[in-house]
Amino acid sequence: MADELLSFDAVLERFDPVLGLEVHVELSTKSKMWCGCPTEFGNEPNSQVCPVCLGLPGSLPVVNAKAVESAIRIGLSLNCQIARWCRFARKNYFYPDMPKDYQISQYDEPLCFDGEIAVEVGEMAYQVPIERVHMEEDAGKITHIGGVGRIANADYSLLDYNRAGVPLMEIVTKTIHDTGAAAPEVAAGYVALLRDMVRALAVSQGRMERGNLRCDVNVSLMPKGASELGIRSETKNVNSLRAVADAVRYEMRRQGAILSAGGRVVQETRHWNEAGYTTAGRSKETAEDYRYFPEPDLVPLAADPAWVEQLRATLPEHPGKRRARLRTEWGFTQREFGDILAVPGALDTIADTVLAGATPIAARKWWLTELARRANEWGVALDELPITAKQVAEVQALLDTGQINDKLARQVIEGVLAGEGDPAAVVQHRGLTVVSDTGALEVAVDGAIAADP
Ligand code: ZN
Ligand code: MN
Repeated sequence: MADELLSFDAVLERFDPVLGLEVHVELSTKSKMWCGCPTEFGNEPNSQVCPVCLGLPGSLPVVNAKAVESAIRIGLSLNCQIARWCRFARKNYFYPDMPKDYQISQYDEPLCFDGEIAVEVGEMAYQVPIERVHMEEDAGKITHIGGVGRIANADYSLLDYNRAGVPLMEIVTKTIHDTGAAAPEVAAGYVALLRDMVRALAVSQGRMERGNLRCDVNVSLMPKGASELGIRSETKNVNSLRAVADAVRYEMRRQGAILSAGGRVVQETRHWNEAGYTTAGRSKETAEDYRYFPEPDLVPLAADPAWVEQLRATLPEHPGKRRARLRTEWGFTQREFGDILAVPGALDTIADTVLAGATPIAARKWWLTELARRANEWGVALDELPITAKQVAEVQALLDTGQINDKLARQVIEGVLAGEGDPAAVVQHRGLTVVSDTGALEVAVDGAIAADP
């Protein structure tokens, strides 16, 4: 990392940051976007492929209706207009992970457009304008063997097309202005909101760490008082909320140093490095390079307005509203609640535990300490741990009624996680009950004193 960096404060004195965020969300439909192949993750390479998703000559795609429904529900949740009529488009490029040599996407006619969503950071709400939500397909997976894991210097490369053709939604914001010092948090907060939204809609698992929600972060700086946008960089595939915020901050500081020294920012794609900095990638293709044209193998999409209204009526409580409601109901401070939002899946598991009878404080404690630690150790999400919200509430009930103490409660949780059954069963067979019979305690105390006066 050789980049000169300006201090964050100095950047803010001289410039206004402008953001643009592109998020790809992999939908959790049972079958792929244009064929009936399953989308299940983690199976034998190339075991979920057919002539359509392998791009064999003569094969024809068919649109997945469930994916269209999911896209419309996402669009409605983002307060978008839903197109009465739109088409798919071919985005042509050659890369071996895309066996057709083009991606079916949407170009000038996206399914959803012109939305807006509020992102809360601390006490402030920032309006994020949405340009479009369009439908497309994922590419396969390339593994480069030898060298440094990139195509350059690799001995050979392996291709797995199981992911080729999995439905993807691309959600693109308009430029986001006036965030100032909060720019990094607004970017991360927006992505967190999208994640919670697609999970609440049950259209995607929304797991950044698994790549089913990926964010490209565009950042540019405008000198104070300027009216024209600066030149932006685009940092690709940033894969955690923290990295989204860090990438924004880093690019602001890097571009701030270049502009302050009288230089020009290069419009390019950059890579995010886990160590906390960006590096230059290829210079950005322009839309013309992709030779977009309407996809001739698919009919246009014209969603019946009555159906769209039906879907609107089925939308779950908006994640932003739900958060505000839960925070009030639970009585947490902004900070206490923020800690919950920072852990993927914690809001839902805590809400379920409260529904199962635990207090919000107790539910928060177990999921953010003991269970978060376990999830971290095993590399799984909270809701993938082999313990249910109901079982956590049962542990807390045993604690509240004095049958076990805090230390024993941890052992009970360990037992449940080890597959020993419900909390009561674990207490039983591990013999963990606290002895609360005063007579028995007195005999034991007397015995101990007598043995060692
Ligand atoms: Zn297929
Ligand atoms: Mn895309």
